[in-house]
Amino acid sequence: MRIVVLTGAGISAESGIPTFRGAGGLWEGHRIEDVASPEGWNKNPELVLDFYNQRRRGILSAQPNAAHIQLAALDAHHEIQIITQNIDDLHERAGSKNILHLHGEILKARSVKNPNLITPINGDIQIGDVASDGAQLRPHIVWFGEQVPMLEMAIPLVEQAEILVIIGTSMVVYPAAGLLHYASPEIPVYVINPEITEISRRKNIHFIQKNAGEGVTEFIRLVLTK
Ligand code: NAD
Repeated sequence: MRIVVLTGAGISAESGIPTFRGAGGLWEGHRIEDVASPEGWNKNPELVLDFYNQRRRGILSAQPNAAHIQLAALDAHHEIQIITQNIDDLHERAGSKNILHLHGEILKARSVKNPNLITPINGDIQIGDVASDGAQLRPHIVWFGEQVPMLEMAIPLVEQAEILVIIGTSMVVYPAAGLLHYASPEIPVYVINPEITEISRRKNIHFIQKNAGEGVTEFIRLVLTK
């Protein structure tokens, strides 16, 4: 069974990594445009680097939770494709094989001059840290207002899905939210979220109103256990 799993910040909430929509539109106390836009970077790059340095440290000390781990275990019997909006590496550490990061990865940095000059990074990025082209390093994160290059790869994956599962995302950040429209109208779509969201109310959606860990267990029981 070809299953595409679209994940957002909510799947990592039980690992202790906060989401941002829940907290009044702030991300760890910051306005999104200050820390996640090219304008924020141009205005105050130190603040932006410091913000992501803190996120990186938090993510490195977090562990995958039951949702990441159960999804990774499904690889043994199904064709699972994870498409995540998350910048953390918890799907990787849980052992999932096929993961596409739509919005970049906190454990990578890139040149401000060349978006394709990407390097792995475990520690902090400081002003003055440069890529091999001599340009300042920035986090390899897609900011609001920037292109989402991985979208082109994500679209055919969603088109080929036989089941779509949407976990822990408010589905309000475009273009990621638009991926839903590429799924065949014939396939079942499951939404796992403790909160009622705009998509969970739609017709033909199977809504599992639970946290990610319990919700994935329920999905497996309902759909994959014969
Ligand atoms: P969001 O913060 O907008 O929405 C989170 C969703 O998760 C909400 O609908 C909420 O009801 C749900 N949720 C909360 N706790 C949950 C739980 N225990 N189990 C399941 N669902 C739960 O997140 P989003 O839609 O992913 O927004 C996208 C942006 O947020 C992305 O660009 C992403 O880079 C960024 N972000 C990423 C991380 C991360 O990498 N872990 C953390 C915060 C924000």
